Amino acid sequence: MVFTVKSRNQTELIDITAKIQDAVLSAGIGQGLCMLYVPHTTAAITINESADPSVKDDILMIIDQIIPWKAGYRHLEGNSPAHIKSTLVGSSELIAIENDRLVLGTWQGIFFCEFDGPRTRKVHVRLIAEKFQE
Ligand code: ZN
Repeated sequence: MVFTVKSRNQTELIDITAKIQDAVLSAGIGQGLCMLYVPHTTAAITINESADPSVKDDILMIIDQIIPWKAGYRHLEGNSPAHIKSTLVGSSELIAIENDRLVLGTWQGIFFCEFDGPRTRKVHVRLIAEKFQE
């Protein structure tokens, strides 16, 4: 299945945990794997703390410091920092599923990472059921 994510800012972390968990629950595969994939070159996906919203702000602040908007970039489209951020954060995540629930730690959430918004984006979700149940 494919989810649409609409970003509102140029750079933004969007919590998509509930959306993905709902999909896992309705699929009812019990035990298996959830593969998330972002088919974009200026976006990414990551797992980190979702309890305190300051954490995502800090992550974005430091990513912006490491990869500044202005540098001697050669890419003519002018969005090289977004491409670099996308590559560093990564385009996929693989999460275990147990009893129709994503296996996430208490503080973990799944974030869609927008690095060149605002745009309408896609997140592909593949659920793989374990053949042999315990
Ligand atoms: Zn570009």
